[in-house]
Amino acid sequence: MAISTPSRADQLRAAIAPFLSFFNGPYSALEKDPEVANFAVGNPHEIAMPSYVDALKRSLEPRDKDWFAYKMSEPDAQQVVAGSLSKLTGFDWDPADVQMTNGGFAALALAFRVLLEPGDEAIFLSPPWFFYDELIVAADGKSVRVKFDLPDCLIDLDRIAAAITPRTRLVVLNSPHNPSGRIVSPDELRGLAELLTQASRDNGRPVYIVSDEPYRRILFDGNEFHSPAEFYPNTLVTYSYGKQLLAPGMRIGYLTWPPNADDRERLRDDAFVHQLGMGWAFPNALLQHALADLEPMCVDLAALERRRERLIGGLREMGYEATWPASTFYSLVRSPLDDDEEFCRILNRHKVLVLPGTIVEAPGWFRISLTASDEMVERGLPAFAAALDEARATGNA
Ligand code: PLP
Repeated sequence: MAISTPSRADQLRAAIAPFLSFFNGPYSALEKDPEVANFAVGNPHEIAMPSYVDALKRSLEPRDKDWFAYKMSEPDAQQVVAGSLSKLTGFDWDPADVQMTNGGFAALALAFRVLLEPGDEAIFLSPPWFFYDELIVAADGKSVRVKFDLPDCLIDLDRIAAAITPRTRLVVLNSPHNPSGRIVSPDELRGLAELLTQASRDNGRPVYIVSDEPYRRILFDGNEFHSPAEFYPNTLVTYSYGKQLLAPGMRIGYLTWPPNADDRERLRDDAFVHQLGMGWAFPNALLQHALADLEPMCVDLAALERRRERLIGGLREMGYEATWPASTFYSLVRSPLDDDEEFCRILNRHKVLVLPGTIVEAPGWFRISLTASDEMVERGLPAFAAALDEARATGNA
């Protein structure tokens, strides 16, 4: 009798099932309702920054016949990224080590394709961003989860060490962390670098860090960000401009590695052929032409900080337990009911949309996004209070 193996689509569907159940369910049912205060995902709820739109308009005007010709990673865009990373890390970053991609999403897909051979293991820390598992499956890798303790989400080196096997090829590190808003400290990064240096020796090949850092420009209270690339040479950095510009539909980001990484020629060649093999997966000409203008721009961090005070401060006053993000758009809030999806349904009835923690492997919690408008925050706060009262009235809160 033939043994049937799940199709590739079935495997991908299984990896992404929790996300789809939310987005095809409560999210699509409520998203368009003008009375709903939407804290579910990091989408803009206000018109884009005028300076951003102006930069795109300027770059839309062709300056030569090749302006809209086929584009790969454009030298000017690579130069902009290398300049930015040299400033961040103090290294002399090589533009040739920058692969421009369609956002951080594609940069991650590319990193996994470059590093993973069938059966190789990829560790990520849970709660994670929704799509790591799916992208690892798509690259024929095997996902290995290492649990964070909530809500602190500190790096636990013993747990990571226990998850490493001879097939481990990479560890995904997402700092600043979605969904907790935490920034991983230099001491934690040093510890991880030591651990993976030893694991690379034991395995006879590098165990890479894939550093997913799209929120590194969204820093509150003067906090600093350090990339794992500063501490560990075999780090593949993935970045998206979608967060700093709060324009996630305009797909531009990159995959890159520091000048002291092993075997850079091979990484460049492998990344390039995979980008072709993934279907000319380079970002479009317009976004690359505009990149020098876009690089210094950032959403209004002071406005996000004020919203954090009002929204998370308000929730805490009501009696909710919520993380105070040092970065990112997100806070994790403890659900007053053990069943976070049940509590989220109560919030939905009060016209509030949040992301149930179960969707991001954080059962008993829910995630809120600071990208909601101020007006949504004002409408949402009394609704959060009413939902809390309702949960308490059940006797289970
Ligand atoms: N990584 C993390 C942690 C994210 O939160 C996101 C987006 O939400 C991404 C990667 C992908 O970013 P983009 O959609 O801008 O490519």
